[in-house]
Formats: sequence, C-alpha cells, structure tokens
Amino acid sequence: LTQLLCKAGDRPGDCAAVAPPPSQASLEEIAQALVRDEFVPFFQPKIAMRNGQLKGVEALVRWQHPQRGLLSPAHFIDALEGTPLMADFTLALVRHVLEQILDWQRHGLPPLTVSVNLSADNLADRGFIDRLMAQVSASGVAPPALVWEVTETSVMRQLSQALTNMGRLRLAGYGLAMDDFGIGYSSMQQFARCPFTELKIDRAFVNGAAQWPNRHMVLKSALELGQSLGVATVAEGVETVEDWKLLRDLGCDMAQGYLLAKPMPAAELVGWIRQDRR
Ligand code: C2E
Ligand code: CA
Ligand code: CA
Ligand code: CA
Repeated sequence: LTQLLCKAGDRPGDCAAVAPPPSQASLEEIAQALVRDEFVPFFQPKIAMRNGQLKGVEALVRWQHPQRGLLSPAHFIDALEGTPLMADFTLALVRHVLEQILDWQRHGLPPLTVSVNLSADNLADRGFIDRLMAQVSASGVAPPALVWEVTETSVMRQLSQALTNMGRLRLAGYGLAMDDFGIGYSSMQQFARCPFTELKIDRAFVNGAAQWPNRHMVLKSALELGQSLGVATVAEGVETVEDWKLLRDLGCDMAQGYLLAKPMPAAELVGWIRQDRR
C-alpha cells in the first residue's frame, strides 16, 4: 500500500502512509487553549472544475499558540479524540466559522458554503449534534451554508448512531461530505448507505495521478460512484496543472489544493477572492 500511495521524492509528512505523527499537546494545554480561544479556522477554497468558480471553502483548524506559533491539527487532534473536550473544541471552532460567515455577508461577499470537519466522537454523539444544530440556529446562518465532513472511519466506529445523526443533519438541510474517500476498506458499500451530498477523494489518489496511471482506477471508480449517486465530487490535494487536467477530463466537479490556494486566514480570503477571482 505504501508503495502505491507514496511517490519517490515525497518529503516526510507528504505521505500519510509513512509520516510519523508529531508529539501531541497535553489535554491540560488544550483545555487552556480553549479557554483562551486560541483555536481558529483557516479557509481553503474549493473550485468548480468546469468554470473555475469559487464554490465554497473548507475550515481547517489552526492553534495560535502564544509560544510555538501556528500549529497544525496534527499536533493536537489525536489528543482530543475520545475526550469530553472534543465536543467543546468543535463547537468553539464552529462559533468562529459562524461569525465569519456573518462577517462575509456584511462585506457583501457572494454566499459561500463552509465545510467543517467533524470527529468520530462528534458524529456518534446525539447530544453534540443537538448542541451543534442549536448553535447554528441561534446564529441565524442557514443550514445549507454549512457542510459537515466526516470520514468513513468515523462512520464505521459507531455505525448506527452515525447513520441516525447524519440523517438528522441532512433533514435539517445541512450538506454532508464523505472525506478521505478511497482509503477505507469498504468505501463503496458504506457510501451508498449514507445520505451524503458530497464525496471528497483523498489526496493519496489525486496527487500525482497524471504521472501514476495505477492510481486512475481508484479515481475513476470514485468519480463514477459519485456521479451515479448524484453527489458532488471533490478532488483533494490538487497540486499540478497535469492533475487538474486529468481530473477535469474524468468529470470531477470540484478541486481543492495548493495549485489553487493554501488554507488562509479569513482576512486573507476576502483579498484573495477580490484580487484573484475577478
Ligand atoms: P483533511 O480534512 O483531509 O484536510 C485536508 C488537509 O490537506 C489539510 O491539512 C490541508 O491543509 C491539506 N492540503 C490541502 N491541499 C493540499 C495539497 O494540495 N497538498 C497537500 N500535501 N496537502 C493539502 P491540515 O489543515 O493540516 O489538516 C489535517 C487534518 O486534520 C484534516 O484532514 C482533518 O482530518 C483534520 N482537521 C483539520 N481541521 C479540523 C477540525 O476543525 N476538526 C477536526 N475534527 N479535524 C480537523
Ligand atoms: Ca476534511
Ligand atoms: Ca480529506
Ligand atoms: Ca485527511
């Protein structure tokens, strides 16, 4: 699997199959960061492949650490999983996202859907989903402005609760994306059972696809599955023009990746939209 997924020349950290995780922050540090409100969303654009239009953004958490600077989720997400802090963490991030959506509305930006990652704990927790929906409802942001991203692993962890909660979110009008598609052991069967609106193909099958025809199989079958179920397909980790062209020719709906834009702070996104996308 590692040979299939990793390219020669991958830097450590580029390839999920071999990258060692960085050491995790302690729960005490994370709890303190929550109190100090140090977790903020960065935003990465999602672009329609047909016409280059901005379709939405994914919120990706960053820890503005007072001593260590900006920390990626690899430094703390694993430590949160399985702890009661995970619910508060996600709700704190969602609060920032909701404030941002309202702020963009005030600035007269075109409406953007914002995708937010939910953890396995979040997805299985009925009480969390209640709090999440109440928080959005109180903000005045309409549910279709938000897409919740969940991975197959999260769905499988507690399948029946996950299915119930996904059904509730969909009924309320939220979008629902399957994240990291293609690496799970039973992706195809599980996908059809869940009320997804979007399928995000993992960057392991996107990145370098143009040079690696043995990756096309997964790409093609993922895109066919999405198309046959009528859900939007998104390619993650598009870094080269060659990969962009291949994906476009295969009929992928949207692309996200460094070729288009890196995740950026909210303030930069406004400038990016106005300058680069007139
Ligand atoms: P993900 O949801 O699959 O997010 C995509 C990751 O790929 C992000 O890493 C993004 O910065 C990175 N990326 C985007 N385009 C490219 C590209 O062209 N090339 C490469 N090499 N990478 C690209 P990031 O921000 O470090 O996040 C890592 C993971 O942490 C996310 O993977 C997600 O599973 C998790 N995560 C991020 N934010 C949150 C959050 O708010 N809550 C939870 N529960 N998990 C989060
Ligand atoms: Ca995601
Ligand atoms: Ca992903
Ligand atoms: Ca991922």
